[in-house]
Amino acid sequence: MEVYVPNRACSCTRCCTRGLMWPTILVTLGVLMLMSEFDVVRFHYTWPILLIVAGVVKILASSAPTVGHHNHVIVDRIMGTGPAAPPPPSPPPPPPPFDPSQGVPNG
Ligand SMILES: [Zn+2]
Repeated sequence: MEVYVPNRACSCTRCCTRGLMWPTILVTLGVLMLMSEFDVVRFHYTWPILLIVAGVVKILASSAPTVGHHNHVIVDRIMGTGPAAPPPPSPPPPPPPFDPSQGVPNG
């Protein structure tokens, strides 16, 4: 079973849809306030539309497919769902032992 963890760097449908929540709410708020400003309908009658819009975006985001989704690297390693971690780099070889007969190197 794969655990879904939102990832801003991912470009799958679910992650992209989740990113639309606040822009959609802000645009809706702007439209509602504009309608109120032009006396089309007062804002205190229309503000629940914000809740409806947030719910619709939430439903769309939770039902969107996760094909191609990439969890965070740490989650992938814990769950064992990601690519294997590269082996750690080998340490550099130790310097050759000092030979007094060759003198002290300059520098
Ligand atoms: Zn994703």
